[in-house]
Amino acid sequence: MRTLDSLGPLGSKTVIVRCDLNVPLATDANGVKTITDDGRIRASLTTIRELREAGARIVLISHLGRPKGEPDEQYSLRPVAARMTELLNEAEPVSDSGDAAEVGFVDETVGEAASAAVAALADGEIVLLENLRFNAGETSKDDAERRAFAQQLADFADAFVSDGFGVVHRKQASVYDLAQLLPSAAGRLVAAELEVLERLTEKAERPYAVVLGGSKVSDKLGVIAHLIERVDTLLIGGGMVFTFLAAQGHKVGASLLEEDQLDTVRGYLATAKERGVRIVLPTDIIVAEGFAADAAHEIVPADAIESSSFGASGLGLDIGPDSAAAFAAVIAESATVFWNGPMGVFEMTAFAGGTRTIARALTETDGFTVVGGGDSAAAVRVLGFADEDFGHISTGGGASLEFLEGKALPGLEVLV
Ligand code: ADP
Ligand code: MG
Repeated sequence: MRTLDSLGPLGSKTVIVRCDLNVPLATDANGVKTITDDGRIRASLTTIRELREAGARIVLISHLGRPKGEPDEQYSLRPVAARMTELLNEAEPVSDSGDAAEVGFVDETVGEAASAAVAALADGEIVLLENLRFNAGETSKDDAERRAFAQQLADFADAFVSDGFGVVHRKQASVYDLAQLLPSAAGRLVAAELEVLERLTEKAERPYAVVLGGSKVSDKLGVIAHLIERVDTLLIGGGMVFTFLAAQGHKVGASLLEEDQLDTVRGYLATAKERGVRIVLPTDIIVAEGFAADAAHEIVPADAIESSSFGASGLGLDIGPDSAAAFAAVIAESATVFWNGPMGVFEMTAFAGGTRTIARALTETDGFTVVGGGDSAAAVRVLGFADEDFGHISTGGGASLEFLEGKALPGLEVLV
């Protein structure tokens, strides 16, 4: 993997940096946007500061959310430029010469205004271009269309740094094509993330436990097949639970269920048994009357979800306290723990208990702990845990899962 060092001296060079600044935003009644978790901005600072110190002229690019290939104000990166300016000056106090860092912002990705802003950069200055996904070329499946957009980005710069770990599994213009059009290298964040993930594959210390949850069930099932070969224990929570419970023949009411995955899941349960890998499912579930923060809810046995007062219309929104305690006990005795996906709908206080217990168990164990996934990372911060209490909080959910699945990641392949 080529790293920043391979690019040679970068003084007065224009360097375009693909970051993952896809942060969660909340909009208040007056339409003012706030960033609810700035972890991904913070994670991008190491590379940016290093480039600034080297005297590079820095052009930052990123996506935010899922706009549909055209400008959509709700997904503007403008609030990110302001927050990054604050964070850079926190981490790197104003120098004697009064040279505070400022992240400029242009409200287009390519075009005349973007060109002018890039051309006006002095050494050490930074500009953030507007959301890459306001351009259809970014995520196009058509190679020529993607390549054409990447060429427009390449025209801005002398070198490319790939530091958006959260997107390295995507074959997209700013990740895959751009790297082939300029001298390119992995940034410090991508390099650091890979070093950690390597500790979760061949080098993992045993016992090794993986905790899976969240809502993207079918996305995550693939990793299970691969992990069964490598881990000692798989702990299953979140929305994924119900496909497992249904596979064992239990009724799950109106909970999240992927019927077309039932056979796959039955296969995993059988393979795990053969290989002596423990798959631990919850024994109790918090079932709610509806999907709402103030919904009535009850704790029921996992094999009798429809026994609640809500019958077949009840929804499982969190693992119960007994299950959380059992999961925590496994985590306590593990030397390596990887966690992806909240145990329940942690955004609602009534259904955050499972996620909180698992997060606390990770902070308390002596083992090496890694949290991966956008929502999982946001959850531990929102629930009040400190980043330092975990071995590593990854900025990439899908990317880290695909790496653990043993897949080739297009954004990394082009940097070899
Ligand atoms: P990550 O971003 O960490 O990979 P996901 O995106 O897969 O995680 O899932 C996060 C979401 O899963 C959260 O918004 C959470 O509310 C939701 N979730 C967790 N458990 C359940 C459940 N039982 N039913 C519905 N949604 C759930
Ligand atoms: Mg997510």
